[in-house]
Amino acid sequence: MQPEHHQILIIGAGPAGISAGVEASEQKLDCLILDKGDVLETIRQFYHQGKRVDEDYHGIKVCQTGHVKFQTETKEDFIAQIEEEITHHNLQIRKHEIAERIARQDQNFLVYTNKKAYSSKYLVLAIGIFSKPVKIPVDVAPEAKPKVLTNLGSQDQKGMKILVVGGGNSAAEFAVFLQKNNEVLISYRKPAFFRLNDVNSKAVKRLVENRKLKIIFESNIKKIEVKDDKALVHLDTKGKVEQLLFDQVVFGFGGTTPTQLLEDAGITFEDNKPLLTENFEAKNTKNLFMVGDIAHKDSATIAKALNDGHEVIKFISSRE
Ligand SMILES: Cc1cc2nc3c(=O)[nH]c(=O)nc-3n(C[C@H](O)[C@H](O)[C@H](O)COP(=O)(O)OP(=O)(O)OC[C@H]3O[C@@H](n4cnc5c(N)ncnc54)[C@H](O)[C@@H]3O)c2cc1C
Repeated sequence: MQPEHHQILIIGAGPAGISAGVEASEQKLDCLILDKGDVLETIRQFYHQGKRVDEDYHGIKVCQTGHVKFQTETKEDFIAQIEEEITHHNLQIRKHEIAERIARQDQNFLVYTNKKAYSSKYLVLAIGIFSKPVKIPVDVAPEAKPKVLTNLGSQDQKGMKILVVGGGNSAAEFAVFLQKNNEVLISYRKPAFFRLNDVNSKAVKRLVENRKLKIIFESNIKKIEVKDDKALVHLDTKGKVEQLLFDQVVFGFGGTTPTQLLEDAGITFEDNKPLLTENFEAKNTKNLFMVGDIAHKDSATIAKALNDGHEVIKFISSRE
């Protein structure tokens, strides 16, 4: 069967992919968006209910340039706004289609998903950095698995004792949110936090000072079992192992990038950084673009992702 052809194929329906789709629609370019989950899957999964979606995330101010713009608002309002844009621009989006393999054929890209094959002249990779969930590096007994989470999604925890594991921004945001209605302890393997942004760092410090949050540095979980319908955590702190009971254990590790998929597409890396031109085009592969978190990594924000979508389609349309 012939692959389904589109002028532009966008992989990922996060802020970057949707913004690119909206701009393509404004330019009357033929475009299809694929996502392995729902639209805004990362935001639906990793942001807790009612989370404030900050315009100046990490204190990074970005002048928004494209058709899709937002101001600080709740997760639910942000999702509703993006869904309105999708309807208004009549975007073609196929949900629950995972791009599993990418190849080249003549001047086109071939993308194989779990459902079918597509081809396109332009390929825009907007898959974010959460595409591959990080494996939990701990021995978890099968009966304990329902008590071990890697994101908060739409869960509504109240009155629980929760262990948050990790020392990055995801772990800090989970802990700051969860402590409002629960007793929360953070376990981190290092002696201090090194990677927190300013907002999270101040929030954690204030909560610790007010005894609303506890942190055990230099601690590692050895295994998780179940006892009395709770997660029994074997926690090694500087060589001393304690057994602690929690209602839930939440790993705030974020995710990783599927490097193989990107390399197959034609992205090359130097010091783990993708080699891109200022127009987000792969240095070694014409008509292949990378936008959003995956292009920016540590300094990534929604506003940047939205702008990337705008810039990349402006560039593609100038080439047509
Ligand atoms: C807890 C948390 C809080 C945050 N708070 C803020 C905030 O307040 N303000 C802010 O500006 N930023 C915030 N961020 C960062 C923000 O979420 C990201 O910068 C933004 O989502 C990046 O958009 P993106 O489109 O590049 O990637 P994503 O939003 O990650 O979207 C990528 C999409 O690609 C899909 N995908 C991945 N792999 C495949 C595949 N192989 N095939 C098909 N589809 C695929 C995914 O399902 C997903 O829908 C936060 C992040 C986290 C984790």
